[in-house]
Amino acid sequence: MQTKRFDIVIIGGGILGVSIGYFLTVNSDANVLIIEREKIVSSHTSSRNTGKVHAPFLYDPIKKKIFAKISFLGYNMWETYSNQKKIQFKQDGVLEIAKQDKDVKILKKYVEWGIQNGLEENDILFLNEQQTKAIEPNVRCNGSIYCKRDASVDYGLLTTTLKNDYLLAGGKLLNLHRVVGVKKQKDSCLIEIVTINKERKIIDSKYVINTAGGHSLDIAHQFEVGLDLFDLHFRGEYWLAPQEYERLTSRSIYSVPKQQNFPFLDPHWIIKSDGHCEIGPNAVPVFGPYSYDFIDNLKNFIPKTKEIFYKKGLWALFTNREFLSLLTNEIAGSLSKRVMIQRVKQFLPALDTKKFNTRGTAGIRSLLINEKGNFIPDTLLLKNSLSLHILNYNSPGATGALPLSAMIVQELANEQVINKVTKNNQLWNIEDIYSKIKF
Ligand SMILES: Cc1cc2nc3c(=O)[nH]c(=O)nc-3n(C[C@H](O)[C@H](O)[C@H](O)COP(=O)(O)OP(=O)(O)OC[C@H]3O[C@@H](n4cnc5c(N)ncnc54)[C@H](O)[C@@H]3O)c2cc1C
Repeated sequence: MQTKRFDIVIIGGGILGVSIGYFLTVNSDANVLIIEREKIVSSHTSSRNTGKVHAPFLYDPIKKKIFAKISFLGYNMWETYSNQKKIQFKQDGVLEIAKQDKDVKILKKYVEWGIQNGLEENDILFLNEQQTKAIEPNVRCNGSIYCKRDASVDYGLLTTTLKNDYLLAGGKLLNLHRVVGVKKQKDSCLIEIVTINKERKIIDSKYVINTAGGHSLDIAHQFEVGLDLFDLHFRGEYWLAPQEYERLTSRSIYSVPKQQNFPFLDPHWIIKSDGHCEIGPNAVPVFGPYSYDFIDNLKNFIPKTKEIFYKKGLWALFTNREFLSLLTNEIAGSLSKRVMIQRVKQFLPALDTKKFNTRGTAGIRSLLINEKGNFIPDTLLLKNSLSLHILNYNSPGATGALPLSAMIVQELANEQVINKVTKNNQLWNIEDIYSKIKF
């Protein structure tokens, strides 16, 4: 069997893998290959999301330090890139509302976090009930924050465009190939891949970057990295709003999460970049990272259930009373379309549940849990001598993909994994981005 050799292999062609590939090829002379199991890049979470360039006010600057920094930096970078490519970057802002009096205190904390994370004071304004009514007459709430520095984009399109730049700069892409095994050698890794026709091939790489999204933990385990971590998958579903609701609000409306530790449970009112509106996402527990339908969910049922019984961290979580009550009350409740829309009707009372009849595109979050059964709040960058694994890369992962990738490439140059960054990137100075995230 013929073995091809690369400087860097990236496993996974989602927005993160493609962004890293882009900076590696545009900023260095590394010989790079992206391996992607699907026919096109961005087939999973990277095109199955809400499409927001999130402002960083929701992220605790200590517990979610990386997410906070990359979310802040991502806004300008996506704006610059979209303008250069003439792709829509709709700066429409967002309203985060308080559904009850006690949420107002939380909103004030978000304003502080937003400013600590880099927002200017006039980017994020606290509005009382009347001030909110003045800008959004159909919204009912006890106060809100209006953040101007928030935008709507099509991340699937941005990833495909970035992939084209990556190819133009000399990067290689092997799609419809799935990584099934890795073998570490003294100074390189042998990566076993399989095609859809079950043909097996071996790729040799000096260094591997794992950006396999919902499968990233499985890949990390093959490198014996992150063995004390486990994952759980939640499908976020959406319902499309009828056209008559397109002028109901001028911007997307989010609400203060009922459970601060699980901000992904509360559905939002979303205005997408093309102007259509949706409600979502909810969080349906599923057994696999691609369990969009019943068949895939069933296929993963036995392996995942076994894991829950035999793996310490998952067992600890599933015997935790607080989590069980969350699972039965909040998560199970969100399965129903009626309950989901009811949650949004609390702040947008004009909605009529009967008018929501078409599902949107669901995406799956893969959340990591440690041995004690606690959810990991931030993304994790775990390394060994020949590989880097980006795990728990959830929202605002699409927003942060460009700055995180620039930082990673600069770090690889500092560590001499790739040659000193030589070529010029006309859009960004990656040393500068590195220093903003690292320090
Ligand atoms: C419902 C939902 C809404 C969201 N909304 C937003 C939002 O509005 N704004 C925001 O910033 N973020 C949002 N996010 C988060 C964001 O979408 C993700 O953080 C981001 O897309 C993750 O990108 P990725 O490249 O790491 O993963 P993915 O897009 O999942 O890419 C991983 C790739 O790896 C490939 N792969 C996996 N295993 C293998 C293998 N063995 N061999 C080869 N290839 C493999 C997969 O096919 C896939 O293409 C949302 C997420 C969800 C679930």
